[in-house]
Amino acid sequence: MDRDQILLTPGPLTTTLRTKKAMLKDWGSWDADFNQITKRIRSQLLSIIHGHDDYVVVPMQGSGTFSVEAAVNSVLPPNGHLLVLDNGAYCKRMATLTNKMGRKATLLSFNEREPVSPDALKKALISDASITHVGLIHCETGAGVLNPLKEISDICKEFNVGLIIDAMSSFGALPIAARDIQFDALISASGKCLESVPGMGFIFIRKAILESMQGNSQSLSLDLYDQYQYMEKTGQWRFTPPTHVVAALAEALNQFEEEGGQPARLARYKDNCKTLVNGLAKIGLEPFLDEENITPIIVTFLAPKYDQYDFKSFYNAVKEEGFILYPGKLTEIETFRVGCIGAINHKEMRQVVASMKYVLEQMAVVK
Ligand SMILES: *Cc1c(COP(=O)(O)O)cnc(C)c1O
Repeated sequence: MDRDQILLTPGPLTTTLRTKKAMLKDWGSWDADFNQITKRIRSQLLSIIHGHDDYVVVPMQGSGTFSVEAAVNSVLPPNGHLLVLDNGAYCKRMATLTNKMGRKATLLSFNEREPVSPDALKKALISDASITHVGLIHCETGAGVLNPLKEISDICKEFNVGLIIDAMSSFGALPIAARDIQFDALISASGKCLESVPGMGFIFIRKAILESMQGNSQSLSLDLYDQYQYMEKTGQWRFTPPTHVVAALAEALNQFEEEGGQPARLARYKDNCKTLVNGLAKIGLEPFLDEENITPIIVTFLAPKYDQYDFKSFYNAVKEEGFILYPGKLTEIETFRVGCIGAINHKEMRQVVASMKYVLEQMAVVK
């Protein structure tokens, strides 16, 4: 059937028809009409974190990782040293891209089932004075654990080290307010909780560090200082913008505001998460994390305990029913993941639970 499947993945995700329709128009990248869209988006994004006084926001072409790489590469000086608080795959990726950009990165590793520990960070900062910045993944999409933003931010402030936050999968859904926390850079992207299409990221940067960023970048295209300066001067993106993606994000942001902003979005995702976890519990599928660590962004489930189970067949059968799942990202235990985000509500969640039940019954019968 020529109908979109429901994406239960942490981006790209299911978007509304209104968002998709916004991509049907061509825009000139130098044109004043397009520059107006960029300007409005930047202002709306800053409003979400109440950051107009102390922060700027710089959009960047590419997938979310491009923006994380741009942030590390633009904020850290060449002799900077980033301590990454590690409880999963995206943390390790941040350390890898930091090394690729020629900076020193150290991992402070924790159990991937649990949030990172502020006390351990404190000890690390006391014992190693060469650390200039801390890298934190707000919601570690690998297992779905939420990390303690405020506590980590307070410690970084106390020790006078910079903080770079990958808030890719949390921004827009979980509360992040610039008046409560301080950071040097915070990164997210169009195709996550803002429920638009993938293709661009954006980085909030504290105004107080902007000038110190000049000349840090080891890359021409991923230089946030230059991207910012050029945009301020001309209203344009420095290199070709993903015009259709920008137009879609503008429309998605309007819907975000109409829905009631971050609190309303979080409420819907919580409802999705509860419907999913309760529904799957009834058919014997248990979450990998303890209940208190589950975040209504993405939930990791232990693979069903059938001999016949393998993820690929399960995935394909659920896809036949109209739902796209996400593989697990844990190395030692077999799991699969289900996203709670996107333009979906508890109805789609009830439907996917019913589909998984049907598929597992079929799989168990065919011995
Ligand atoms: C989605 C995501 C990213 C970015 O991934 P891309 O594939 O580059 O878009 C980075 N960090 C986290 C925590 C994410 O969830």
